[in-house]
Amino acid sequence: MIEFRNVSKRYAGNQAIDNLNLTIPTGDFFVLVGPSGSGKTTTLKMLNRLIAPTKGDIYFEDKRLIDYDLTQLRLQMGYVLQNIALFPNLNIQENIAIQAESLGWPRKQRVERARALLKQVDLDPDKYATRMPNELSGGEQQRVGIIRALAIKPKVVLMDEPFSALDPISRKQLQDLVLQLHKELQMTFVFVTHDMHEALRLGQHIAVMRLGHIQQVGTGADIMQHPANDFVRGFFENEHAPRPDTVQSLLSEGYGQTTSAPATLTATATINELAAALKGNVSVVVSGGEISRALSTPDLLDYLATKEAN
Ligand code: ADP
Ligand code: MG
Repeated sequence: MIEFRNVSKRYAGNQAIDNLNLTIPTGDFFVLVGPSGSGKTTTLKMLNRLIAPTKGDIYFEDKRLIDYDLTQLRLQMGYVLQNIALFPNLNIQENIAIQAESLGWPRKQRVERARALLKQVDLDPDKYATRMPNELSGGEQQRVGIIRALAIKPKVVLMDEPFSALDPISRKQLQDLVLQLHKELQMTFVFVTHDMHEALRLGQHIAVMRLGHIQQVGTGADIMQHPANDFVRGFFENEHAPRPDTVQSLLSEGYGQTTSAPATLTATATINELAAALKGNVSVVVSGGEISRALSTPDLLDYLATKEAN
């Protein structure tokens, strides 16, 4: 478990974090979401002690973070950056194993670990292990960035807007990938994003931040159905800015479950109308010609993740 207790961080003349109290359960997929400048990166960097709080304490497994040996602590906290930061002069397998090497793992074990991780993210090790970073696409490089953070099996993985530089299709693929890795690896993931859709797709728990304050912590369903205040409501609704597409687009792409239940929406309804109808409902039945289909929030989020109007 990670606990922030009355944590504040002040930069010269600027209160970035103001009396933060937050609990992150062990093994959770925890998302910090908020607009730029809300203090997400500062919060994340306090977790691996890249930034020290001005006030308050952070506890990791019931021990104060500052009481850990820094090197030991960093080994427990994998870190994935927004800008893929692979070492350009090292090949892919050397990049993945760089921490393992500094820990003195034998070469054979490092290579095996790198190859197993590449396989786990669908990059054929025979093809990719010895390539250089500039021979990979952005999405492939970010896959490597992620598995590099996992290579020595940290307890916690910190991710700071890791997908924001990627196109919508790669972003969706990598969201699926981190969900799958989280399921398989049983580590705690702390994921930062400014994108509410991404937060709702990924987070088991979500903390919405604004100007150094937590606005609401809860599950995606809690936040969508019972926004704590106007900021949270507005932040969610802004993400649903008018869109030209209709519910028919989801039906055409095969989303939803066939049902004989009565329909409450027609296929000509807008995406925004569907989002509104889903508030407080697990699913909404849409009449699409002969048959009706029940569309759920995950259907909508999945659709939006691939169809983001940029
Ligand atoms: P986010 O990641 O949510 O965009 P940050 O944690 O980076 O937010 O920043 C929170 C606030 O702290 C912002 O107002 C930002 O300008 C300020 N800030 C961040 N880093 C520094 C720094 N090194 N010096 C002064 N102010 C900073
Ligand atoms: Mg940031």
